[in-house]
Amino acid sequence: MGNGEQRGKVALVTGASRGIGRAVAIQLARDGAKVICVSRSEASATPTAEAIRADGGESDPFAVDVSRAEAVQAACRDILEKHGRVDILVNCAGINRDNMCLLMTDDEWNAVLATDLSSCFHWTKHLCRSMVRNRWGRVINISSVIGLVGNGGQANYAAAKAGVIAFTKSIARELASRNITANAIAPGFIDTDMTAPLPEAIREKVLEQIPLRKFGRPEDVASAVSFLASDRSSYITGHVLNVDGGMVMA
Ligand code: NAD
Repeated sequence: MGNGEQRGKVALVTGASRGIGRAVAIQLARDGAKVICVSRSEASATPTAEAIRADGGESDPFAVDVSRAEAVQAACRDILEKHGRVDILVNCAGINRDNMCLLMTDDEWNAVLATDLSSCFHWTKHLCRSMVRNRWGRVINISSVIGLVGNGGQANYAAAKAGVIAFTKSIARELASRNITANAIAPGFIDTDMTAPLPEAIREKVLEQIPLRKFGRPEDVASAVSFLASDRSSYITGHVLNVDGGMVMA
């Protein structure tokens, strides 16, 4: 349950239709924020917004393809016009298009970089002005442990997620003087539609590498986002928080 500490704040969560993004949107609404649920289509964004409203929270769905720069820019204009501000930005939308590097197509590379990395740049660029004006803001970018250690078959995804971390640290430095923090979360293996196709043998192998011996739940990531979005984390910026059952220890 949330504690209402984000009352009066507006949060925007990308990839909010399912998995980690949906859990994050629901948690931030329980914390008291009005949550704009961004997904590729109105039909996919609406169920999360409806679940939040049914739970007593405030939420609006918004459809935009985050991999398209002009579409994100236009979305930011519309959202700021309608809501006046965005205080908390959570970049969670992501895809993978796995292939060995020597076989990887340009489309597989470009799609993952545009969706998982460039989208963070475009949302930040167009929404942070509102945070700067209000002298308060939180940017939370969902990276991955793969961005820390790499993975065979995921050169595109690993490069994008490592880029998310470097991007986050850079904007943390740029925005700190305006009382805006920027942090990344590096989830390990979380049970969602993204990891569902993994064959059982691979799941067993992965489990052996996780000291807590279980996959994470979307809610495990959501509670980390809730903390980083709150005033309880006001002295933390440029940090990468692993939510991975101990899989990767620095
Ligand atoms: P998911 O596939 O269940 O959800 C991804 C979300 O992103 C969906 O809502 C989808 O509609 C949205 N999305 C994808 N492309 C989009 C686009 N072009 N425009 C708008 N929305 C788009 O995945 P998930 O497991 O919930 O992952 C969420 C994030 O967490 C991703 O960035 C993923 O890389 C990251 N992550 C996941 C895991 C895991 O184990 N599940 C681990 C580490 C990092």
